Amino acid sequence: LLREHGYEVAGGVLYFAASRERVPVNFDDALIEQTHAAITGLRALAQAALPPEPLTESPKCPRCSLVGICQPDEIAFLRHQSGELRPPYVADPHALPLHVQTPRAYLRKEGDCMVVEVEREKIMEARLADVSQVVVYGGGGMTTPLLHELLNRGIPVTWLSYGGWLMGHTVGAGHHNVEVRTDQYRASFDPEKCLALARGLVAAKIRNCRTLLRRNWRGSEPEVPPDLLLSLKEDSRHAERATSLATLLGVEGSAAARYFANFGRLLKADELGAFAFAERNRRPPRDPVNALLSFAYSMLTREWLVVLSAVGLDAYRGFYHQQRFARPALALDLMEPFRPLIADSVVITAINNGELGAADFVRAAGGCALTDRGRRAFIAAFERRMATEVIHPLFGYAASYRRLLEVQARLLIRWLAGEIPEYPNFTTR
Ligand code: SF4
Repeated sequence: LLREHGYEVAGGVLYFAASRERVPVNFDDALIEQTHAAITGLRALAQAALPPEPLTESPKCPRCSLVGICQPDEIAFLRHQSGELRPPYVADPHALPLHVQTPRAYLRKEGDCMVVEVEREKIMEARLADVSQVVVYGGGGMTTPLLHELLNRGIPVTWLSYGGWLMGHTVGAGHHNVEVRTDQYRASFDPEKCLALARGLVAAKIRNCRTLLRRNWRGSEPEVPPDLLLSLKEDSRHAERATSLATLLGVEGSAAARYFANFGRLLKADELGAFAFAERNRRPPRDPVNALLSFAYSMLTREWLVVLSAVGLDAYRGFYHQQRFARPALALDLMEPFRPLIADSVVITAINNGELGAADFVRAAGGCALTDRGRRAFIAAFERRMATEVIHPLFGYAASYRRLLEVQARLLIRWLAGEIPEYPNFTTR
């Protein structure tokens, strides 16, 4: 550039700040040619539809800010089923969801903080840097400056009815990488790809249900009846071999019937019999355990909605769940293996640890719902579960469930782009 403007430039100096070294560089023809080639290569890379191949076992990766998106070790492992996996160097984000469930709560921005007021009285404040998402129940609201700040920072806001029903989701202008969604839409019209993904999700869910029964059994027999475990194992195998989505739905239904017929035997009986569980029912749930299960599933759906919009996928275009207006089909698809591991597990823990009692529920119009206190206790139990670290069964490193959802969503993107042969489902032993 300087030469083009008439200057004579024979060389330059590279200065290394850390070691305070100066290295003279000669601008000869070979270096100029090499620089032009590098610039052309970078421009081609920036315009390509696919990102460049991740490096293999590079010492640069662990400290790279893109390692959580690029997943170099995971991709290499899934392609070759070998290689050493280094623990994810992107630490779990310290920011947490803020749940606002007080009726008539109003949120506003104050400097770098978010203030929650009820009838103009400040009841709490949180640093915006410590908030990963805002969840507003019932009639809460917020000021426009706060909403703008949240959108600028990429913090999503989820709006729920007072009973926890998902009403909507406010996010910024959307993810810029449209290739991710193009791959998703293309695959969603391919019946073979839909079936391949759905088979894996349902089989993984059944295996995780089986594990949950084994881990939490409190029935009259000392252990889970072997024929029940065997039947669920068979269900999982049938799911893997299903020849159509309709067959798969049937397999999933019979496995769910077996699982929920025994779910009550995982729960500690309380004196008032509040947590007796006979069957799964919903819309509305008619007893406390069903109220908790429904609430836990809606919280898990919300978590997946947040993750999917953060990675650039369309939560409303799924592969297994049929498209229906306002139904987050992809969130429902991907949460299948996590229903037992996160939602059902929180319900079991909250009941068996005595965090909830009969007084934490109200019954009206044939339905059953949590009281304010009960919901607060359950949300705390759910957040604890999301922060629990587990060992990834394939990759062998520890990560919280919240981080694992993102790992799985990014692996789905790689599978949709054809970069890995199969989508690896998450199952525990
Ligand atoms: S993690 Fe960073 S350094 Fe490693 S391959 Fe990906 S982009 Fe390159």
